Amino acid sequence: VVRYRDIRKSYGETEVLGGIDLDLYPGEKVAVIGPSGSGKTTLARILMTLEYPTGGTIEVDGEQLWHRRVKGRMVRADEKHLHRIRSSIGMVFQHFHLFPHLSIIRNVTEAPIHVLNMPKEQARAEAMELLDKVGMKDKADAYPSQLSGGQKQRVAIARALIMKPKVMLFDEVTSALDPELVGEVLKVIKELAEESSMTMLLITHEMDFARDVADRVIFTDGGQLVEEGPPEAIFEHPRSERLRSFLSRFR
Ligand code: ATP
Repeated sequence: VVRYRDIRKSYGETEVLGGIDLDLYPGEKVAVIGPSGSGKTTLARILMTLEYPTGGTIEVDGEQLWHRRVKGRMVRADEKHLHRIRSSIGMVFQHFHLFPHLSIIRNVTEAPIHVLNMPKEQARAEAMELLDKVGMKDKADAYPSQLSGGQKQRVAIARALIMKPKVMLFDEVTSALDPELVGEVLKVIKELAEESSMTMLLITHEMDFARDVADRVIFTDGGQLVEEGPPEAIFEHPRSERLRSFLSRFR
C-alpha cells in the first residue's frame, strides 16, 4: 500500500500540491487526469524520491519515504532503507531516458545485473522474455537511435518491468509520441494492466485509455485532488464544475 498524507509541494511562492491524500491499494490501477500543471507529475516524482515534498508524509508498506526535517526541509529516509523501498517502485517517463550508447537488450539488463546482482544469463533470458511481451524482441541488438518513439517507450516499459516492481508509475508515456504511435504503447500497458497484479498509477491525457484501464480515476486541478471514483462515475457523472469543464475539452 502507498499512502500519501497531506502531501504539499511549493517552488518558492508557487504551490504545486496543496495537501494531497491518496491511497494506492495492492493491485489497483489508478489513473490520474487533470489539466497541465495541476501537479500530476510532481505526485509521481515525490513517490520516486526524485523530488522532495515541502510537507506531509508518504508511506510505502508502512515505511516512511520522507521524514525528518533539516532546517525545515524534508529529507529522504536513510539510504539503505530507501534503496529497499525504491526497488519496489518502477517508473516510465514521458521521455524514455534510454542509454543511447547501449543496445536495447543491454538497456534492459543493466539495472538487474548491477543493482540486483542478477547473473548475466538470467538477466538476458528475462529481458528477452519481456522484450517479446512488448513486441520488441527482434530489436534486441539495435540501438535506441534506430527505434521509433513508440518502440523506445515499449523498451522503457520492459526495462522497468525487469526489476519486478510492486508499483509502476506511468507518467504521460504517450505525450511525446507522434499520434500514430500512441496506440501501440497504450495497448502494451493495457495488456499489462489486465494480466498483472502490480499496482499501477497511470498519469494520462488519454481519457479513453483511463476509462478502459483504471479501477479508479483521480482528477487533480490546481494542486488539489478534486474528485475520485470509478471510471463511469468520473466520466459519466462528474460532480464538480471543474471536472465537467475539464472533460468537455475532450468531447
Ligand atoms: P503536465 O500535464 O503538463 O505534465 P502536471 O500536472 O504533470 O502537468 P507538474 O509537472 O507536476 O504538472 O507541474 C506542476 C507545476 O509545477 C507546473 O506549474 C510547473 O510549472 C511547476 N514546476 C514543476 N517543476 C518545477 C520546478 N523545478 N521549478 C518551478 N516550478 C516547477
